Amino acid sequence: MRQAALTGILARRALATIAAHAELLGMLDRAIGDGDHGANMLRGFGAVAEAADTLAAHALPRALQEAGHLLVMKTGGASGPLYGALLDRMGKSAPAAGPRSIGDLAKMLGSGIEAVKIRGRADAGAKTMLDVLIPVQAALACGGGAGDARAAADAGLEATRAMRARRGRAAFLGPRSVGHLDPGACSAAKLVHMVCDVVEEVHA
Ligand code: ADP
Ligand code: MG
Repeated sequence: MRQAALTGILARRALATIAAHAELLGMLDRAIGDGDHGANMLRGFGAVAEAADTLAAHALPRALQEAGHLLVMKTGGASGPLYGALLDRMGKSAPAAGPRSIGDLAKMLGSGIEAVKIRGRADAGAKTMLDVLIPVQAALACGGGAGDARAAADAGLEATRAMRARRGRAAFLGPRSVGHLDPGACSAAKLVHMVCDVVEEVHA
């Protein structure tokens, strides 16, 4: 499959994924935040899907960077600049011809995670999207495939339930943030599933 087609598919499927789970994301954010995570993500990924044809005209590294910039500008909320930094840095660290292996993907995700950590001054265990992204990256770095990445995303999301939030709005709740899934970890897990599905479909 041509890279351009893949870029367009990812942009549209990201929005479909977020739309399918927007209510859940809002509900999770109402419990430990301000309830806008679904709406924020819909705005950001709506802009990315709207630009799908433009993004598909670029090679994947540039398309990822442009999608990242759209997320920063359009999403609103803390998650926009963080997801934006993730995609921007993944694009910047991608091989010019796009990723060719799971190892390439693991390196790109590793670089993206570093950017999120710096921007959010967060690390593993703070009850954020990083608690999904970090284990998924670790699974890929060990040579795991789509099934391993999905399992790591699900386990990472579930693990946020027992965590006390140390970053973001939920941190204001202190111990009362324990017992709830993190909304950003949930959106990250849904997006990881989507990317795995697309990768499997195009290689089927
Ligand atoms: P806001 O908190 O501004 O309302 P959202 O509701 O869209 O923004 O996003 C909240 C999510 O963003 C959290 O559930 C968490 O996963 C993520 N997040 C918030 N702050 C940080 C941070 N400093 N580092 C990493 N992720 C963060
Ligand atoms: Mg919120």
